[in-house]
Amino acid sequence: MQTTSFLYEGKAKKVFKTNQQDTYLIRYKDDATAFNAEKRGTIAQKGEVNNLVSAIIFPYLEANGIPTHFIEKIDRRSMLVKAVEIIPIEVVIRNRATGSLCKRLGIKEGITLTPRVFEFCLKNDALGDPIINDSHILTMKLCSDAELAEVKKMADQINVLLSHFFKKVNLELIDFKLEFGRFNGKLLLADEVSPDTCRLWDLTTQNRMDKDRFRLDLGAVEEAYQEVLNRIENQVKSI
Ligand code: UDP
Repeated sequence: MQTTSFLYEGKAKKVFKTNQQDTYLIRYKDDATAFNAEKRGTIAQKGEVNNLVSAIIFPYLEANGIPTHFIEKIDRRSMLVKAVEIIPIEVVIRNRATGSLCKRLGIKEGITLTPRVFEFCLKNDALGDPIINDSHILTMKLCSDAELAEVKKMADQINVLLSHFFKKVNLELIDFKLEFGRFNGKLLLADEVSPDTCRLWDLTTQNRMDKDRFRLDLGAVEEAYQEVLNRIENQVKSI
Protein backbone atom coordinates (compact mmCIF):
# COMPACT_ATOMS: atom_id res chain seq x y z
CA MET A 1 0.00 0.00 0.00
CA GLN A 2 1.24 3.48 -0.91
CA THR A 3 -0.29 6.89 -0.29
CA THR A 4 -0.79 8.62 -3.64
CA SER A 5 -2.02 12.10 -2.74
CA PHE A 6 -3.00 14.26 0.18
CA LEU A 7 -6.76 14.69 0.31
CA TYR A 8 -7.81 16.67 3.36
CA GLU A 9 -6.55 18.06 6.66
CA GLY A 10 -8.98 18.32 9.56
CA LYS A 11 -8.42 19.57 13.10
CA ALA A 12 -7.10 16.23 14.37
CA LYS A 13 -6.28 14.15 11.29
CA LYS A 14 -4.83 14.19 7.79
CA VAL A 15 -6.42 12.01 5.11
CA PHE A 16 -4.51 10.59 2.11
CA LYS A 17 -5.63 8.69 -0.97
CA THR A 18 -3.86 5.37 -1.51
CA ASN A 19 -3.14 3.12 -4.47
CA GLN A 20 -5.81 0.73 -3.15
CA GLN A 21 -9.26 1.36 -4.55
CA ASP A 22 -11.75 3.06 -2.20
CA THR A 23 -9.18 3.13 0.59
CA TYR A 24 -7.88 6.12 2.50
CA LEU A 25 -5.04 6.42 4.98
CA ILE A 26 -5.76 8.50 8.10
CA ARG A 27 -2.85 10.00 10.01
CA TYR A 28 -3.72 11.25 13.49
CA LYS A 29 -2.21 14.56 14.66
CA ASP A 30 -1.23 15.86 18.10
CA ASP A 31 -3.10 19.14 17.45
CA ALA A 32 -5.94 19.81 19.85
CA THR A 33 -8.82 22.26 19.54
CA ALA A 34 -11.81 22.94 21.76
CA PHE A 35 -14.84 25.22 21.92
CA ASN A 36 -15.21 25.47 18.15
CA ALA A 37 -11.41 25.94 17.71
CA GLU A 38 -11.30 29.03 19.98
CA LYS A 39 -8.80 27.12 22.15
CA ARG A 40 -5.85 25.53 20.36
CA GLY A 41 -2.82 23.56 21.46
CA THR A 42 -1.03 20.27 21.14
CA ILE A 43 -1.15 17.18 23.31
CA ALA A 44 2.07 15.14 23.04
CA GLN A 45 1.48 11.68 21.54
CA LYS A 46 -2.28 12.30 21.25
CA GLY A 47 -2.24 11.20 17.61
CA GLU A 48 -0.73 7.86 18.58
CA VAL A 49 -3.12 7.31 21.46
CA ASN A 50 -6.21 8.13 19.37
CA ASN A 51 -5.05 5.90 16.51
CA LEU A 52 -4.15 3.00 18.80
CA VAL A 53 -7.35 3.28 20.86
CA SER A 54 -9.53 3.54 17.73
CA ALA A 55 -7.68 0.58 16.20
CA ILE A 56 -8.76 -1.54 19.17
CA ILE A 57 -12.31 -0.21 19.50
CA PHE A 58 -13.36 -0.43 15.82
CA PRO A 59 -12.63 -4.20 15.61
CA TYR A 60 -14.38 -4.71 18.98
CA LEU A 61 -17.49 -2.98 17.60
CA GLU A 62 -17.25 -4.94 14.31
CA ALA A 63 -17.07 -8.20 16.27
CA ASN A 64 -20.30 -7.12 17.96
CA GLY A 65 -22.24 -6.40 14.77
CA ILE A 66 -21.41 -2.72 14.10
CA PRO A 67 -20.04 -2.12 10.57
CA THR A 68 -17.17 0.42 10.61
CA HIS A 69 -14.82 2.08 8.11
CA PHE A 70 -11.75 0.52 9.77
CA ILE A 71 -9.55 -1.77 7.62
CA GLU A 72 -6.23 -2.07 9.45
CA LYS A 73 -3.66 -0.28 11.57
CA ILE A 74 -0.63 0.75 9.48
CA ASP A 75 1.65 2.17 12.17
CA ARG A 76 1.32 3.82 15.58
CA ARG A 77 -0.21 6.96 14.05
CA SER A 78 -2.02 5.72 10.94
CA MET A 79 -4.82 3.43 9.87
CA LEU A 80 -6.38 2.37 6.57
CA VAL A 81 -10.10 2.99 6.25
CA LYS A 82 -12.82 2.59 3.65
CA ALA A 83 -13.34 5.78 1.64
CA VAL A 84 -16.81 6.63 2.93
CA GLU A 85 -18.92 9.64 2.06
CA ILE A 86 -19.30 11.30 5.46
CA ILE A 87 -22.86 12.23 6.49
CA PRO A 88 -22.45 15.82 7.76
CA ILE A 89 -24.02 15.15 11.16
CA GLU A 90 -22.33 14.71 14.55
CA VAL A 91 -24.26 12.21 16.66
CA VAL A 92 -23.87 12.72 20.42
CA ILE A 93 -25.13 10.41 23.15
CA ARG A 94 -25.00 11.53 26.78
CA ASN A 95 -25.26 9.19 29.76
CA ARG A 96 -24.35 11.81 32.38
CA ALA A 97 -24.72 15.57 32.20
CA THR A 98 -21.63 17.70 31.59
CA GLY A 99 -20.13 20.10 29.05
CA SER A 100 -22.37 22.04 26.70
CA LEU A 101 -25.55 20.28 27.93
CA CYS A 102 -25.19 21.87 31.38
CA LYS A 103 -24.29 25.28 29.94
CA ARG A 104 -27.18 25.27 27.48
CA LEU A 105 -30.00 23.80 29.55
CA GLY A 106 -28.93 24.45 33.15
CA ILE A 107 -28.96 20.73 33.94
CA LYS A 108 -26.92 19.90 37.06
CA GLU A 109 -23.35 18.74 36.34
CA GLY A 110 -22.79 15.01 36.77
CA ILE A 111 -26.38 13.78 37.07
CA THR A 112 -27.26 10.50 35.39
CA LEU A 113 -29.48 11.03 32.37
CA THR A 114 -32.39 8.59 32.13
CA PRO A 115 -33.11 7.89 29.40
CA ARG A 116 -29.83 8.84 27.76
CA VAL A 117 -29.88 12.08 25.77
CA PHE A 118 -29.50 11.99 21.98
CA GLU A 119 -28.25 15.08 20.10
CA PHE A 120 -27.43 15.90 16.50
CA CYS A 121 -25.15 18.73 15.34
CA LEU A 122 -24.62 19.95 11.81
CA LYS A 123 -20.98 19.39 10.82
CA ASN A 124 -20.18 22.96 9.83
CA ASP A 125 -17.24 24.73 11.48
CA ALA A 126 -18.19 28.14 10.05
CA LEU A 127 -21.57 27.90 11.81
CA GLY A 128 -20.04 26.41 14.99
CA ASP A 129 -21.60 22.94 14.54
CA PRO A 130 -25.12 24.04 15.59
CA ILE A 131 -27.57 21.61 17.22
CA ILE A 132 -30.21 20.36 14.82
CA ASN A 133 -33.14 17.95 15.07
CA ASP A 134 -34.63 15.20 12.91
CA SER A 135 -36.77 17.69 11.04
CA HIS A 136 -33.75 19.83 10.02
CA ILE A 137 -31.86 16.70 8.98
CA LEU A 138 -34.65 15.52 6.69
CA THR A 139 -35.50 18.94 5.24
CA MET A 140 -31.82 19.70 4.59
CA LYS A 141 -31.56 16.20 3.04
CA LEU A 142 -28.46 15.40 5.11
CA CYS A 143 -29.58 11.77 5.06
CA SER A 144 -32.72 9.75 4.33
CA ASP A 145 -35.41 8.77 6.82
CA ALA A 146 -34.21 5.17 6.72
CA GLU A 147 -30.57 6.21 7.26
CA LEU A 148 -31.56 8.39 10.22
CA ALA A 149 -33.42 5.49 11.84
CA GLU A 150 -30.38 3.27 11.31
CA VAL A 151 -27.98 5.90 12.69
CA LYS A 152 -30.08 6.13 15.87
CA LYS A 153 -30.28 2.37 16.26
CA MET A 154 -26.54 1.89 15.69
CA ALA A 155 -25.63 4.76 18.04
CA ASP A 156 -27.70 3.22 20.85
CA GLN A 157 -26.07 -0.18 20.27
CA ILE A 158 -22.63 1.47 20.27
CA ASN A 159 -23.47 3.21 23.57
CA VAL A 160 -24.22 -0.16 25.21
CA LEU A 161 -21.10 -1.79 23.74
CA LEU A 162 -18.73 1.08 24.57
CA SER A 163 -20.12 1.55 28.10
CA HIS A 164 -19.43 -2.14 28.72
CA PHE A 165 -15.97 -1.97 27.12
CA PHE A 166 -14.83 1.04 29.17
CA LYS A 167 -16.32 -0.29 32.41
CA LYS A 168 -13.91 -3.23 32.14
CA VAL A 169 -11.01 -0.76 32.36
CA ASN A 170 -12.60 1.14 35.26
CA LEU A 171 -13.85 4.05 33.13
CA GLU A 172 -17.38 5.38 32.84
CA LEU A 173 -18.56 6.50 29.40
CA ILE A 174 -20.12 9.89 30.20
CA ASP A 175 -20.87 11.01 26.63
CA PHE A 176 -19.43 10.67 23.13
CA LYS A 177 -19.67 11.82 19.53
CA LEU A 178 -19.96 9.60 16.46
CA GLU A 179 -19.85 10.19 12.72
CA PHE A 180 -21.24 7.88 10.06
CA GLY A 181 -20.52 7.49 6.36
CA ARG A 182 -21.93 5.77 3.28
CA PHE A 183 -19.97 3.08 1.48
CA ASN A 184 -21.50 1.09 -1.39
CA GLY A 185 -24.97 2.02 -0.17
CA LYS A 186 -24.23 0.81 3.37
CA LEU A 187 -23.96 2.88 6.55
CA LEU A 188 -20.63 2.54 8.40
CA LEU A 189 -19.33 4.02 11.66
CA ALA A 190 -16.50 6.39 10.61
CA ASP A 191 -14.17 9.01 12.17
CA GLU A 192 -12.60 7.86 15.48
CA VAL A 193 -13.47 6.60 18.95
CA SER A 194 -10.92 8.02 21.38
CA PRO A 195 -10.41 10.26 24.45
CA ASP A 196 -10.91 13.18 22.01
CA THR A 197 -14.44 12.10 21.18
CA CYS A 198 -15.53 10.32 24.38
CA ARG A 199 -15.74 11.69 27.90
CA LEU A 200 -14.34 9.05 30.24
CA TRP A 201 -14.34 9.37 34.04
CA ASP A 202 -12.37 7.05 36.28
CA LEU A 203 -14.96 4.88 38.06
CA THR A 204 -13.10 5.01 41.38
CA THR A 205 -11.82 8.60 41.56
CA GLN A 206 -14.26 10.30 39.11
CA ASN A 207 -11.17 11.94 37.55
CA ARG A 208 -11.64 13.09 33.96
CA MET A 209 -9.49 10.97 31.63
CA ASP A 210 -10.24 12.69 28.31
CA LYS A 211 -10.05 15.93 26.34
CA ASP A 212 -11.77 17.83 29.17
CA ARG A 213 -8.32 17.92 30.84
CA PHE A 214 -7.26 20.13 27.88
CA ARG A 215 -10.58 22.00 27.53
CA LEU A 216 -10.71 22.92 31.22
CA ASP A 217 -6.93 23.28 31.86
CA LEU A 218 -6.96 20.48 34.44
CA GLY A 219 -3.30 19.49 33.82
CA ALA A 220 -1.83 16.00 33.28
CA VAL A 221 -3.42 15.86 29.82
CA GLU A 222 -0.83 13.59 28.13
CA GLU A 223 -0.80 11.33 31.19
CA ALA A 224 -4.57 10.82 31.04
CA TYR A 225 -4.47 9.89 27.33
CA GLN A 226 -1.59 7.44 27.97
CA GLU A 227 -3.40 5.94 30.95
CA VAL A 228 -6.53 5.27 28.87
CA LEU A 229 -4.39 3.58 26.19
CA ASN A 230 -2.45 1.52 28.77
CA ARG A 231 -5.61 0.27 30.46
CA ILE A 232 -7.18 -0.71 27.13
CA GLU A 233 -4.00 -2.41 25.83
CA ASN A 234 -3.61 -4.36 29.09
CA GLN A 235 -7.25 -5.42 28.97
CA VAL A 236 -6.88 -6.62 25.36
CA LYS A 237 -3.65 -8.52 26.24
CA SER A 238 -5.38 -10.28 29.13
CA ILE A 239 -8.16 -11.75 26.91
N1 UDP B 1 -17.50 16.12 20.84
C1 UDP B 1 -16.56 15.86 19.85
N2 UDP B 1 -16.37 16.79 18.86
C2 UDP B 1 -17.05 17.96 18.81
C3 UDP B 1 -18.00 18.23 19.83
C4 UDP B 1 -18.20 17.29 20.83
O1 UDP B 1 -15.95 14.81 19.83
O2 UDP B 1 -16.82 18.75 17.88
C5 UDP B 1 -17.74 15.13 21.91
C6 UDP B 1 -17.15 15.57 23.24
O3 UDP B 1 -15.85 15.05 23.42
C7 UDP B 1 -18.11 14.95 24.23
C8 UDP B 1 -19.46 14.93 23.50
O4 UDP B 1 -19.13 15.01 22.11
O5 UDP B 1 -17.72 13.61 24.50
C9 UDP B 1 -20.39 16.05 23.89
O6 UDP B 1 -19.69 17.25 23.78
P1 UDP B 1 -20.20 18.71 24.29
O7 UDP B 1 -21.22 19.21 23.34
O8 UDP B 1 -20.55 18.67 25.74
O9 UDP B 1 -18.82 19.42 24.06
P2 UDP B 1 -18.24 20.81 24.51
O10 UDP B 1 -19.12 21.80 23.81
O11 UDP B 1 -18.30 20.83 26.00
O12 UDP B 1 -16.84 20.73 23.95
